[in-house]
Amino acid sequence: MKIIMLGAPGAGKGTQAKKIAEKYGIPHVSTGDIFRANIKGGTELGKKAKSYMDQGQLVPDDVTIGMLLDRISQADCENGYVLDGFPRTIPQAKSLTDALNARGEKMDYAVDVDVPDEAIVTRMGGRRACVKCGATYHVAFNPPKAEGVCDACGDTLVLRDDDKPETVQKRLTVYHDQTQPLIDYYRNEGILVAVDGTKELNQVFTDIIAVLGA
Ligand code: ADP
Ligand code: ADP
Ligand code: ZN
Repeated sequence: MKIIMLGAPGAGKGTQAKKIAEKYGIPHVSTGDIFRANIKGGTELGKKAKSYMDQGQLVPDDVTIGMLLDRISQADCENGYVLDGFPRTIPQAKSLTDALNARGEKMDYAVDVDVPDEAIVTRMGGRRACVKCGATYHVAFNPPKAEGVCDACGDTLVLRDDDKPETVQKRLTVYHDQTQPLIDYYRNEGILVAVDGTKELNQVFTDIIAVLGA
């Protein structure tokens, strides 16, 4: 099964992608996580990505596309994967379609997690991310067992720099300009599934599974 998660920053793509990955036994491939791991590791790729991410801008397509195509050609992606945060532009989507076509493959579903901008700002302010493993929580809607501590690995939870309100506004503008057109792109490909992302997170998952199948 090959799945794309679409939706605004903070819509719940990552939260749902992790649950889908676990249920179907496929890797969760998050371009944001890959960039953050590279920034932490001080790699060339990380250095290129950081200034864009800090400003709420997209990392350029020439950097991002190669990185993602590399990742999905690894052995653990043979039986499928769930893409979280890619594609974010029409050129990214076209490159993905072309790369898959060349191997006689295609994506199965593009799941759009629909949440209005007003709700996004509240979500991002309460989001806490683990500095070590990338797990995400919400102070009110999905709290960790102990405040400020990751359930999964015990490391520290922080508010991401790019989750500060000014940057969130910028990211929402970028989303509407560059990423939202992908909803029509995948509707035209006949693989779009839209779910109401304002529901409680387990309910959103149930709604997704109802379409993807057991
Ligand atoms: P969120 O899920 O909150 O939108 P991500 O972790 O997916 O955040 O992405 C964080 C940042 O990483 C983005 O704001 C952008 O700068 C960069 N990024 C992630 N994926 C892509 C992509 N496919 N294309 C360009 N930039 C990306
Ligand atoms: P994205 O990957 O789309 O940027 P996340 O999955 O990181 O979004 O979710 C953003 C924030 O909202 C996190 O703090 C997460 O715990 C919380 N969240 C996710 N889904 C829901 C939901 N259905 N209802 C309320 N809060 C949610
Ligand atoms: Zn952790």
